Amino acid sequence: MSIDFTFSPEVEQARTHIREFLHHTVKARYAQLSANKDAQREDWSELIKELRQEAKAKGFWLPHMPQSVGGMGLGVTALAAVSAEAAKVPYGPYIMNGHAPDEGNMHTMHHFATEYQREQYLNPLLEGEIRSCFSMTEPEVAGSDPTLIQTTAIEDGDDWVINGHKWFTSGARGASFAIVIARTDPDAEIPQARNSAFIVDCDSPGFEIVRDIETMSGSHNHCEILYKDVRVSKANLLGERGGGHKLGQVRLGPARLAHCMRWLGEIEMALEMLIDRAQQRFAHGSLLSEKQSIQWMMSDSAMELYASKLMVLHAAYKIENGMEFKQEVSMAKHHVANTLWKVCDRAVQVHGALGYSKDSPLSAMLLQARWARLADGADEVHQMRIADLLMRAYNDTGSVNAGVGGLPL
Ligand SMILES: Cc1cc2nc3c(=O)[nH]c(=O)nc-3n(C[C@H](O)[C@H](O)[C@H](O)COP(=O)(O)OP(=O)(O)OC[C@H]3O[C@@H](n4cnc5c(N)ncnc54)[C@H](O)[C@@H]3O)c2cc1C
Repeated sequence: MSIDFTFSPEVEQARTHIREFLHHTVKARYAQLSANKDAQREDWSELIKELRQEAKAKGFWLPHMPQSVGGMGLGVTALAAVSAEAAKVPYGPYIMNGHAPDEGNMHTMHHFATEYQREQYLNPLLEGEIRSCFSMTEPEVAGSDPTLIQTTAIEDGDDWVINGHKWFTSGARGASFAIVIARTDPDAEIPQARNSAFIVDCDSPGFEIVRDIETMSGSHNHCEILYKDVRVSKANLLGERGGGHKLGQVRLGPARLAHCMRWLGEIEMALEMLIDRAQQRFAHGSLLSEKQSIQWMMSDSAMELYASKLMVLHAAYKIENGMEFKQEVSMAKHHVANTLWKVCDRAVQVHGALGYSKDSPLSAMLLQARWARLADGADEVHQMRIADLLMRAYNDTGSVNAGVGGLPL
């Protein structure tokens, strides 16, 4: 076995050029507009639009997709490096058309979409002409267990008629379509075969956005939606009937890891801010950076970030090489989400009142970080799956090795 932690020169070059673009061109243009006191919301939208066009022209577009559909064709491990870079700049992933939830939806549709669905929905999404959302979670039942979904889709002639109540459909306002998970086969023997996925146009009659849910970190277009007799053509069934769960799994594995990749960038940013502040702030006779308790925060963060990077790279390697990846993605998702929370919290601590204030981006980063531990699989659900696969590995082989990454050591 060869272990090589370097990327090919092409990937390394792409990463450097993307970093250059995001950290110089994009940040400089943000700074320019921020300096203009008369700048309006529309000016920001216009700037982001221009930057997206520039990114596309430079080939920094769709980092998660294969070249055959206009993507960068990076492979999952190289994607980790690029996504972490993109996450360090506000709207970085969006500028590259690699943001959630579109990125997960593109990935899903690339697997499952029919020719018609590609033409009608996937291609405009790839071009960056439209946005989409993913509508699965419901307020009335535990989102952690999709077999409980209550939204129904019932066949009626050439259509399906959808009725239900969803919430936390991210990006719904302004999206052109939603991928909706609904129950089509309540009597299916296997609970996982009860649900199907549908592509629903957001301007369909009966698609009603109730509100943009106010979260602990403000409103971010996570919407509550009512589906009232929404009709969709049979051509809009995505994947096979009863395949909603399978589709969710295909979507969520790599999408979860894609979140982790972006979080790596955010953790690195928070740690850099922690170090900067500790090296400047003086109290009780020395700089904060000279105090052991602060150094422990640094070293704990460094070790946790290092482990996070290795876990993400290894899970990515497994996906890229067609190997079983569930255990590694679950472990990475849990570990990186918790590291993000802990490092942001430590950085706030070291910044004192400044960290708690909105003068520093850290307070917003900390509040944003909180959802990482409960969405896309809550910590406890991943722990349950990890323990289950671990016991299975041990019982099948007499060793825990296959449950802890299957590494040759
Ligand atoms: C910022 C944000 C964005 C989101 N975006 C989307 C989106 O775009 N589309 C979408 O469909 N959904 C989205 N969600 C919803 C998200 O997927 C759900 O919140 C998640 O699946 C958990 O479901 P729930 O909130 O109903 O919590 P529940 O399922 O009710 O779980 C609550 C808690 O119970 C505990 N728990 C659950 N199961 C177990 C178990 N087996 N063992 C032990 N403890 C357990 C965990 O602590 C968990 O946090 C988003 C959520 C957030 C916060």
